[in-house]
Amino acid sequence: MHEISIALSLLEGLSEEAERRRIGRVSAVRVRIGVMSAVVKDSLLFAWDLAAAGTIAEGSELKIEEVPLALWCSKCDCERAPTFPTSFQCSVCGTFATEIRHGRELDIVAMEVPDDIPAG
Ligand SMILES: [Zn+2]
Repeated sequence: MHEISIALSLLEGLSEEAERRRIGRVSAVRVRIGVMSAVVKDSLLFAWDLAAAGTIAEGSELKIEEVPLALWCSKCDCERAPTFPTSFQCSVCGTFATEIRHGRELDIVAMEVPDDIPAG
């Protein structure tokens, strides 16, 4: 299960950001995870609870937003969805894409702080 190392690295980024903004406690964290990042959502939620224990994010809710794969099709000259969720083939013309535009994200997009503590 590599989700524990992902949870730890997300927490690392979160702690740095929280420190910078002088946030002492986080109640929820919103992350964006691409379909190609091979993250099992349930495993990550489980890992998050374990990894967050004893940190500013202890007991926080991890809100996962899944990002579908988007390819750059050189033939259509625009961004296209694949023929099926993990394919690299343009759903419109069938050309194999050489570039992934979305779907490999593994980012923190927002953190929520408890209502009684104002955000820095
Ligand atoms: Zn195309």
